[in-house]
Amino acid sequence: MQSMSSLKEDPKLGDMPADEFRRYGKELVDWIADYFERIDEFPVLSQVEPGWLKQNLPAAAPEKGEDFSAVLSDVDKLILPAVTHWNHPSFHGLFSTSTSSVGIFGEMLTAAFDMKAMLWRTSPASTELEDVTLDWLRQMLGLPSEFEGIIYDTASVSTMQAIAAARERANVDVRELGMSGRDDLPLMRVYASEHVHSSIDKSVITLGLGTRSLRKIACNDRFEMIADELERAIAEDIAAGHLPICVIPTIGTTSSTSVDPVASIADICERHKIWMHVDAAYAGPTAIIAEMRPNFAGWERADSIVVNPHKWLFTPFDLSILYCRDLDMMKQAFSLVPEYLKTNEQSTVKNGMDYGIQLGRRFRSLKLWFVLRYFGREGIIARLSEHMRLARLFASWVEESENWEMLAPIPFALVCFRACPGGADDLDVLNETLMNAVNATGEAYLSHTKLNGKFTLRLSVGSIRVEERHIVKVWELLNAQLAAIP
Ligand code: PLP
Repeated sequence: MQSMSSLKEDPKLGDMPADEFRRYGKELVDWIADYFERIDEFPVLSQVEPGWLKQNLPAAAPEKGEDFSAVLSDVDKLILPAVTHWNHPSFHGLFSTSTSSVGIFGEMLTAAFDMKAMLWRTSPASTELEDVTLDWLRQMLGLPSEFEGIIYDTASVSTMQAIAAARERANVDVRELGMSGRDDLPLMRVYASEHVHSSIDKSVITLGLGTRSLRKIACNDRFEMIADELERAIAEDIAAGHLPICVIPTIGTTSSTSVDPVASIADICERHKIWMHVDAAYAGPTAIIAEMRPNFAGWERADSIVVNPHKWLFTPFDLSILYCRDLDMMKQAFSLVPEYLKTNEQSTVKNGMDYGIQLGRRFRSLKLWFVLRYFGREGIIARLSEHMRLARLFASWVEESENWEMLAPIPFALVCFRACPGGADDLDVLNETLMNAVNATGEAYLSHTKLNGKFTLRLSVGSIRVEERHIVKVWELLNAQLAAIP
């Protein structure tokens, strides 16, 4: 065994030497710049089989530290083939999301500071920059000044925290008494459209409300919640002795990006004093564009709103913002200060740990601050507008062709469509085969949903690197693959 004194002299103690860090750091930035320059050459979806990476990695960590160049060379050999390239301009599946280079700089610095923004004292920079950056974005989105934001990792978590605050405001004392073993507690209800994101189902599961508490409201033929149906459901529930606590309209649903009638829903929520949480995780950033504001009518009356810069604001995953009309409700639901976290200044400063279940929080606002400063409002508007133009351009080709049809309106930059060539027996099977064939080429990635029971192809345009030629390419690819299906 090594003695303590020899350990002290061991040159291997401490971190990587600064000159080595500098060398590899520069190499890595060059690597990333090259990667972005040649990203078009990679297959969008990783082409490896399940288990391939695991089989190619040693079963245990090395005994002795390795030269970092060996690690980097394994990134090329082993990691890259197993990467699905979300930053690829032909990534059109799910929602096309991407990071900007300045967003990556933000992540680098966040890791360098490695702060845990629990208390103002442990992280004045994070606490105050978060407030300032979220207020800048609030102004850009046109939200009233009562709204104060807090950053969480994902919309799933933002929404769960919002429902927890809604429950707190319903005065059922769940914080102290919990929900089990009580016979004084009515069935609590959360309402959302049948097209709501699955994270809302997961939220009611996690909060112990259970999926039976989530009442899904029918939609019209544009996939928008029918406000009269919501009104009817709430009246029925109140008559049955249930307790409505939260309604969640979506601006930009996941399947088709439909927009629920938020203003009418706000009327209903105000009448019944129910918390309204708006899910604008995907489409929220487009409120920066004045002409897009009609889609957001009524969201300024919400109790809380979730917007995800990591979806369509060029900010690396993860960064989700919950804007709250009364952020203190969140504090009421979650604040708990053990002795070892008490500070002299706690009554005069904001301590991030008070607003959710996390204690330590990443310094996430830095990357968003970089993005807002580097692109500015104009640069963001130009990019989002271009994505919406490209989506409409693609849709115009679909509309002009006899072999294709549109299956939903395009409020933002998602096209829902399918192939419908004459003579095809089963369009669901045909479109699924087509999607798989396109994805297998590695040239582009599309995903699907079901709308009105029909297998629907989804083409999302949102990459900071996308150009018209990529949209032309995926259209040609779709037509070539369609022609090749026997
Ligand atoms: N809400 C909507 C409308 C979404 O489309 C998504 C994901 O696509 C989410 C919420 C969940 O987002 P996150 O991955 O940040 O939890």
